[in-house]
Amino acid sequence: MKYRAMAVGTDGVRAMMESALTARDRVGVQDFILLENYTSEVAFIENLRKRFKENLIYTYISSVLVSVNPYKDLEIYTKQHMERYRGVNFYEVSPHIYAVSDNAYRSMRTERRDQCILISGESGAGKTEASKKVLQYYAITCPASEHVQTVKDRLLQSNPVLEAFGNAKTLRNDNSSRFGKYMDIQFDFKGAPVGGHILNYLLEKSRVVHQNHGERNFHIFYQLIEGGEEDLLRRLGLERNSQQYQYLVKGNCPKVSSINDRSDWKVVRKALKVIGFSDDDVEELLNIIASVLHLGNVQFAGEDSGNAWIPSETQIKYMSRLIGVDVAVLREALTHKKFIVKGEELMSPLNQEQAAAARDALSKAVYGRTFTWLVNKINDSLAVKDDSSKNASVIGLLDIYGFEVFQNNSFEQFCINYCNEKLQQLFIELTLKSEQEEYESEGITWEPVQYFNNKIICDLVEEKFKGIISILDEECLRPGDATDITFLEKLEETVGGHAHFVTHKLADGKTRKVMGREEFRLLHYAGEVNYNVNGFLDKNNDLLFRNLKEVMCMSENKILTQCFNREELTDKKRPETAATQFKTSLAKLMEILMSKDPSYVRCIKPNDAKQAGRFDEVLIRHQVKYLGLMENLRVRRAGFAYRRRYEIFLQRYKSLCPDTWPSWNGRLVDGVSTLVKHLGYKPEEYKLGRSKIFIRFPKTLFSTEDALET
Ligand code: ATP
Ligand code: MG
Repeated sequence: MKYRAMAVGTDGVRAMMESALTARDRVGVQDFILLENYTSEVAFIENLRKRFKENLIYTYISSVLVSVNPYKDLEIYTKQHMERYRGVNFYEVSPHIYAVSDNAYRSMRTERRDQCILISGESGAGKTEASKKVLQYYAITCPASEHVQTVKDRLLQSNPVLEAFGNAKTLRNDNSSRFGKYMDIQFDFKGAPVGGHILNYLLEKSRVVHQNHGERNFHIFYQLIEGGEEDLLRRLGLERNSQQYQYLVKGNCPKVSSINDRSDWKVVRKALKVIGFSDDDVEELLNIIASVLHLGNVQFAGEDSGNAWIPSETQIKYMSRLIGVDVAVLREALTHKKFIVKGEELMSPLNQEQAAAARDALSKAVYGRTFTWLVNKINDSLAVKDDSSKNASVIGLLDIYGFEVFQNNSFEQFCINYCNEKLQQLFIELTLKSEQEEYESEGITWEPVQYFNNKIICDLVEEKFKGIISILDEECLRPGDATDITFLEKLEETVGGHAHFVTHKLADGKTRKVMGREEFRLLHYAGEVNYNVNGFLDKNNDLLFRNLKEVMCMSENKILTQCFNREELTDKKRPETAATQFKTSLAKLMEILMSKDPSYVRCIKPNDAKQAGRFDEVLIRHQVKYLGLMENLRVRRAGFAYRRRYEIFLQRYKSLCPDTWPSWNGRLVDGVSTLVKHLGYKPEEYKLGRSKIFIRFPKTLFSTEDALET
């Protein structure tokens, strides 16, 4: 119908075509809200499958974007696509990450409210790629001046740098982010990006010293060795063969077919320049990276007495030169532990095993702190320079690890899954809250929705005194005989009766055979996970011997002097444990997110083989479950499937009623009322709010859509 095309533009027509019956059969519905059988998981997955087969990787649940990783480059991220989504309403064009980006941007501009885009999903589902698409969208479509261009470049270039130092090849993803990232993009009053700020969470430091079979260390090590110029490698004392380094051989996976370390090296070097790293900064940074590799090659021998010593000092000599610390000091610090007894310093020798552990602890601490330094440095470069833009509005981007279940789950999975519990709680609260608020503001009665509130699990983990983290901290602080097993026993005593906590012990004193004696199980909202307590105390303590800290404070390397400061040595207070630090940083993150209007991107991984075109139903069903998508849909559909502002509804369907065509001159609500009565809507099928029409069932809307097509 010709006037419709005029009203909504060609893209709009295409979107409408998609909802016409024939297209719906082939490509499914572009919003799950429109599924007739919305409680059926089978129907949900079938809809995803239909769309995936047609390369339609995006589908909405109302304003939540569900994305399935295509594992191939689709021609949907061009400049033309960006243009197509600019300033256009959600439903007028097919679902896209650009639509979410644009919508957040427009809400920020018009409603003057800070926004955030929360991207979640399991490893390899496409979170980082999605966050890059959002950033690219703003970099290309937002207004720019000369200064802004620099900011845009820096925002974009922060990615390759952080990925080089914080990402690694894992079994699940060749470019897996091993840290959580929240990034604020700050905009001035004209809507131009003027700055940014990054918060990083829990880098998986253990990877520096150990990798599982088929996995690698952080990309930067291989990039340096493969791509580093001859004279640079010579200066650093490195060979062009990653397999010479103990820290790079554990996974037996030096090369990855999808990764070109040599060309990535060039990209990273250039990115560091764009961000504003001086030549000196880069030199110091690479000195540290090379030192970690040398440190990993330090071997210890044991004397008869059991005391460790270092037979070959080549490595510590390189290290000494690279970070400016005396060889003798390094030697002693790596083989001894310092005590302070009654104000007097005593040195106690370490045995071979302890020395190796101290060496690895030092490597982890050095790498971890250097990573934080790097983030701070990027933040300095992204900081808003112009005072007039200080009160800029913000769009936050969260790309954080999804729920994880492995064969063997440890402290890291415990933290990651706790983080996901918190995000799920926020999601539930905010989705329900916004539903409720919308009903209230439209003057429509709220119908309560039943849902599982996972607050009970968050409390189990984080509650003061009786939560798992508190109990863990208590064991870490307890002098004497505390071990991972006594921690587990304390858990049994304190939270043994909790509905979401299980161990091998049964209430009648018998044992549950399917569970190991060193495990506890948490019944997460997303499923059950068994955690092995081995290493919990050590990882939570995250201690570095005092003399190793002292040595680092002596270093002439400018980055290390910022990472290790003397105050830390004189500070009598015990440093916060890793879990408590994480808990505190998560609480802060929740506050930040709560203060913003959220948009959600839920990423799904279609198969474990990283292959295009494969839709593994079992894997997908599992993700649909733990991303809480069915529940999300149920909440969203509990009342009304569809709602639209009067003017938009009228504009779209006015051609179907002689009284509203070609235009309606009275009150909008009367126009809509006239229109739907003419269409034969029954009173129970819809409600008229203050500014919107609410339609209960999708079929009502479909029949109206179909009427347009005839
Ligand atoms: P992790 O939690 O391990 O960091 P992730 O969710 O961040 O995982 P990504 O690194 O974004 O996962 O994606 C994994 C890989 O999947 C990418 O390297 C890319 O090859 C592919 N991929 C993801 N999203 C897309 C997309 N939209 N188009 C094409 N390929 C994609
Ligand atoms: Mg990632």
